Amino acid sequence: SVTPLIAGNWKMNGLARESAAELTALVERMKAVAPAACDVLICPPATLVREMATLAEGSGVAIGGQDCHANESGAHTGDISAEMLKDAGATYCLVGHSERRTDHGESNDTVKAKAEAALRAGLIAVVCVGETLDEREQGRTLDVIAEQVTHSLPSGATAANTVVAYEPVWAIGTGKTPTPADVAEVHAHIRSTLAGKADASDAMRILYGGSVKGSNAAELMALENVNGGLVGGASLKAADFWPIVETGL
Ligand code: 13P
Repeated sequence: SVTPLIAGNWKMNGLARESAAELTALVERMKAVAPAACDVLICPPATLVREMATLAEGSGVAIGGQDCHANESGAHTGDISAEMLKDAGATYCLVGHSERRTDHGESNDTVKAKAEAALRAGLIAVVCVGETLDEREQGRTLDVIAEQVTHSLPSGATAANTVVAYEPVWAIGTGKTPTPADVAEVHAHIRSTLAGKADASDAMRILYGGSVKGSNAAELMALENVNGGLVGGASLKAADFWPIVETGL
């Protein structure tokens, strides 16, 4: 059986003091249920990775980056490498989030190079995919997702070093979610797309993300081929995030 991963993406939110308080609250709850039956991950902004990693040490809460550059180091002003995130205490890195694909024009090739950089640094890559509303309305969802999975996955992907996160773009931050049947359909399609492309594809975790909250998490997380969640807004406060974590415990 696959150990679920409940992940929080703080995006561009978090100053040191309140973030430390929220992370500490999460860490305390995790310590109280140790050993937890699911993996828990928080991806804070890069400025907080080292401090959050220190606070989370030994708690079962892993810390990850939200993006990395494809190169190890060099003349790339403002960018952060996977090696730097690892050095700061991260063990995971998101790549190809739709906000990166949209705001920074990241292609599948770019995302794949970043995912490979994450693996090279010894981080677990969380490769994000998702269709836009237009694509869904045109009936192209399954094709778009298969295309993204096929071309964004790092070479050498295994169930241990790579996670796929399905986040429909129109469900992010909108309060809208696909029906459970639609989520299950896309996840099954991702599972079959992974077959033959990744080692141990049956055990690779496929997360659902997009307006996950305490009130809908249990139903979404119980679906076949849904092995956890990637949570934005509801991950910022430990009190909101915890009920979602509990669906994996
Ligand atoms: P929300 O949970 O705020 O919809 O964000 C989802 C997301 O983009 C997580 O990466």
